[in-house]
Amino acid sequence: MIQLKNMNQIGKDVIEIEYNDGIIKRLRLNTVQKNCPCTRCSQKLLDVLSPTTVSKVVSVGCYGLKFHFLSGCQQGVYSHLLLRGIPCDI
Ligand SMILES: [Zn+2]
Repeated sequence: MIQLKNMNQIGKDVIEIEYNDGIIKRLRLNTVQKNCPCTRCSQKLLDVLSPTTVSKVVSVGCYGLKFHFLSGCQQGVYSHLLLRGIPCDI
C-alpha cells in the first residue's frame, strides 16, 4: 500500500512528496494544477493560470492530497496514484 511519508514545499512553486516505497516526486505546482482531476479541468473548461502557488496542502486520508491553490482551480483531490503518474519536471 502506497503511503505518504513526507511532504515539503520547496520555494514558492515546487512540492516534494516522499512515499514509503522510496519514490520521491518533485513537481511544479503549476504542473499539479494542470493535472487537476475535477470535472471542469478534465474537460478543459478552465485555463491554468501560471504560475500558481498554494496556501496549504492537506492529506485526504490515505487516498491522496488536496491542494489549496491561491489561483485557478481548487476543486481537485489528487489521488497518490495520479500524483505518482505525473512526470517530474524539475
Ligand atoms: Zn480542477
